[in-house]
Amino acid sequence: MSDANKALRLVLLGAPASGKGTQGQTLAAEFGIPKISTGDMLRAARDAGSELGKLADGIMSAGKLVPDDLVIRLVDERLAEPDAQRGFILDGFPRTVPQAEALDRLLAERGAGLNAAIDIRTPRELLIERATLRRTDVRTGQIYHLKYNPPPDSAELVHRDDDREETVLKRLDAYDTMTAALVPYYEGKNLLRHVDGVGSPSEVGQRIRRALTELTGVTSGGSARLEVSRGGANES
Ligand code: AMP
Repeated sequence: MSDANKALRLVLLGAPASGKGTQGQTLAAEFGIPKISTGDMLRAARDAGSELGKLADGIMSAGKLVPDDLVIRLVDERLAEPDAQRGFILDGFPRTVPQAEALDRLLAERGAGLNAAIDIRTPRELLIERATLRRTDVRTGQIYHLKYNPPPDSAELVHRDDDREETVLKRLDAYDTMTAALVPYYEGKNLLRHVDGVGSPSEVGQRIRRALTELTGVTSGGSARLEVSRGGANES
């Protein structure tokens, strides 16, 4: 088995504020692989004032999706980085079927398909409460929740523009109309497990680890080493 086939290549699906970012961060540290978030990359482009950032800014603030070709290009470039050769966790990408198809093509060109997709399912009311009370420490990137995971006094907090209620509702609608179609897409490839997103981050994390073991035979055991006993799309 080549090294590429021992890597975890995971897509996290789930509506805005379902916990993809939090879970992705923890899993990435456990497995020693990068978490790749198109939302983070677009926010960085916006903050840097690049052409892409300027274009994405208005779209993101409106709670809409940035055009497929732009995010696909971002992901293509990011997947070419050396750290992504050991595996990766995708958070917020793909969000449409054309993005999922493009991802399959990009990975096929590199000879390394996805081996898991986890769908974090959370009731709408809870998603709204999580997003509107979510805050990020600008210095550490750590995500807090004013009610369930309060920040320390020292944190320098920002509230994402698009986490205001009116925009959250639009983002949830975009999820339902565009991204929910990825559930049958990955089910059809026998790569998907659903996980209940209600609970503490560590409870949800345990469910994800169990699902990953079922799907791939993988256990991180808290170490960066990873063995995949059963492949995914590549081998089906
Ligand atoms: P997120 O941080 O994943 O909630 O993304 C924040 C915003 O960035 C989304 O509401 C979209 O406007 C944009 N965005 C992030 N990822 C994608 C994607 N894969 N496709 C289209 N737009 C995206």
